[in-house]
Amino acid sequence: MDFALTDIQRDIQNAAREFAEKEFPNVARECDEKEEFPMELWKKACELGFVGVFIKEEYGGAGLGYTEAAILMEEFWRVDPGCGNLLLTSFGTEIIQQFGTEEQKKKYLGLIPSGKAIMGCGITEPNAGSDVFMASTTAVKDGDEYFINGSKTFITNGTIADVILVFCITDPNTEERFGKHSFIIVETDRRGFEATKIKGKMGIRASDTAELSFNDVRVPIKNLVGDAEGYGFKQVMHLFNLNRLLATAQAIGAAQGAFEKAVTHINKRIQFGKPIASFQGVQFMIAEMATKIEVGRNMLYKACWLIDKGIFDPKAISIAKLFAGEASIAVINDAVQLHGGYGYIAEYGVEHFYRDAKIVEIYEGTREIEKITIAREILGR
Ligand SMILES: Cc1cc2nc3c(=O)[nH]c(=O)nc-3n(C[C@H](O)[C@H](O)[C@H](O)COP(=O)(O)OP(=O)(O)OC[C@H]3O[C@@H](n4cnc5c(N)ncnc54)[C@H](O)[C@@H]3O)c2cc1C
Repeated sequence: MDFALTDIQRDIQNAAREFAEKEFPNVARECDEKEEFPMELWKKACELGFVGVFIKEEYGGAGLGYTEAAILMEEFWRVDPGCGNLLLTSFGTEIIQQFGTEEQKKKYLGLIPSGKAIMGCGITEPNAGSDVFMASTTAVKDGDEYFINGSKTFITNGTIADVILVFCITDPNTEERFGKHSFIIVETDRRGFEATKIKGKMGIRASDTAELSFNDVRVPIKNLVGDAEGYGFKQVMHLFNLNRLLATAQAIGAAQGAFEKAVTHINKRIQFGKPIASFQGVQFMIAEMATKIEVGRNMLYKACWLIDKGIFDPKAISIAKLFAGEASIAVINDAVQLHGGYGYIAEYGVEHFYRDAKIVEIYEGTREIEKITIAREILGR
């Protein structure tokens, strides 16, 4: 076992930290208030090679692993989760990279790190959240095309994406529960596609979220991901596992960011004639916060290490995400508490973490779905 980051990982961490600290504060507050995606920031991030680092070099990416992707996400979320989610402009590439045809990989993957396109992935529907198999959007074959009908909700990058992977029913009649769905690649300039921004999110408000509707949207059958229909289940599980790692990194990054702000504040803030950091009750809080972050980060890196070694362990991933999500919220709650009234005011830069971090317990599998996954892996049921 080696717990040290490699030189390359350390360089990535430093570069990401420097970029986020320099660039995010210029736009973060405004993007949060106006609920705007930081388009210029995303372009700069692409130019510096931060987006889609796990895309293989032969398809235009950096060919790095999930440990590196997680380090980047953690550093971005440490400064501002809303802006940090610009890294999710590669959302869905994981499916094409693993299951797509050679033609699809060549056509779509390189567009993402270079900033030529944004991708999204539409699975959730109004009546299909945790139970993804309730997804009822249909893709019906008609000659050499599919025509797609249905709707999706809560889709990240929905109004800014150029390409969306859509989880559709391709075989409504199969008895096989896991063989009904497939992913279809939909370019968002196709007729019949509409995206409506969802406003009023609690946090990560710079991240674009939308409702999508598909009204007889026609795409060529070569837009089916892979060579055959009915592999949507396998593909969606693969995506969830990889993105749960990134969500875990988000939780740790947000906790770290709020924690550092709390440490600075308690060393400066004088009450009862001394810095509040000198009170043992406060020191105990700091020790507990640091412990939660450290344990969460260790579990994250272990889960990433396993994936990068080609070992697929859904239990390790779900344990990491479950723990980190809860730990993050607890740490940030204490960070706000340690700021007293200032913690409640946007200007002091800690309250947004409180709003932002909650999403980790909801997307990529809710807290309860992570528990179900862990128990299923243990009990084999
Ligand atoms: C900001 C944001 C971005 C998102 N981005 C995307 C995206 O890009 N693409 C996409 O497809 N989706 C996206 N989602 C959707 C997200 O993945 C879902 O919200 C999530 O899976 C939960 O589904 P739901 O909201 O329908 O809640 P529900 O499934 O209705 O769950 C409600 C509650 O019931 C609990 N519950 C459900 N089933 C069980 C069970 N069997 N046992 C115990 N408890 C259970 C849940 O844990 C939860 O607490 C996003 C959501 C948000 C808020």
